[in-house]
Amino acid sequence: MNIPSNHPRAKSLYIRELLVTGFRNGLVAPEGLIAHGRGEAFDYLLGEHTTKAARDAANAASSMLLLSKYPVISVNGNVTALCAKGIIELSHVTGAAIEVNLFYRTTEREMAIEKELKKNKAKTILGIGSEASMRIPELQSERRRVDPNGIYKADTLLVPLEDGDRAEALVNMGKTVITIDLNPLSRTAKVAHITIVDNIIRAIPEMIVAAKQLKEKNASVMKRIVEEFDNKANLAKSLNIIRGDI
Ligand code: ATP
Ligand code: MG
Repeated sequence: MNIPSNHPRAKSLYIRELLVTGFRNGLVAPEGLIAHGRGEAFDYLLGEHTTKAARDAANAASSMLLLSKYPVISVNGNVTALCAKGIIELSHVTGAAIEVNLFYRTTEREMAIEKELKKNKAKTILGIGSEASMRIPELQSERRRVDPNGIYKADTLLVPLEDGDRAEALVNMGKTVITIDLNPLSRTAKVAHITIVDNIIRAIPEMIVAAKQLKEKNASVMKRIVEEFDNKANLAKSLNIIRGDI
């Protein structure tokens, strides 16, 4: 579709197009299109820009990734369709591994995602096919399968656009969980240690900029940022923005 650049909702329409193209290329599950709709509604209410609260959370998230011994970024179809390049750059800057982990798991989609990430110059992609041989306790079904060299052994996980059940199971495994979720009321947003309430399309570049700046600083600076971050208070700020002044 040709989106006129002066259309008042051009950006939002452009993001939809990325998902529709991802769907047609086998990256995005049909359910992923619906999940995007839920995110979009919150983006509308938040003003479709990165808020101060989201920037603070992104700063804490990048600090946490840089401080971790074995950070892993979990990607699904929507994440790949929206920001494959950004995920790979973030993994380079922070030293995090990348693992494909799908809610609606099929081998075809897994491989399409791997191919797309490699096309964008990713080196190693974990969690493909039989490599995802370990299980997340507490979860039934295929979505509990994880890579022993990735999510299973990670100390910190970035799980954007995640489902609440799995986020909770990962927290119960003792992982430090960071998420990107436009809905400050979702179970994932509430259960994670650090929640960036922003569109992933803006949050990943924000995290990259923060990580590049933080890397120049002392570890004690990053430790303080993480210690001072209060996820509940941060979520409340996003909710206040949504509530507005009425
Ligand atoms: P939960 O299971 O955590 O309670 P949910 O069931 O409402 O959440 P899921 O489909 O499990 O929703 O997870 C997808 C989440 O991703 C939703 O909370 C949605 O708001 C969010 N989301 C969708 N698209 C984006 C996006 N582009 N950027 C950031 N967040 C998004
Ligand atoms: Mg869910």
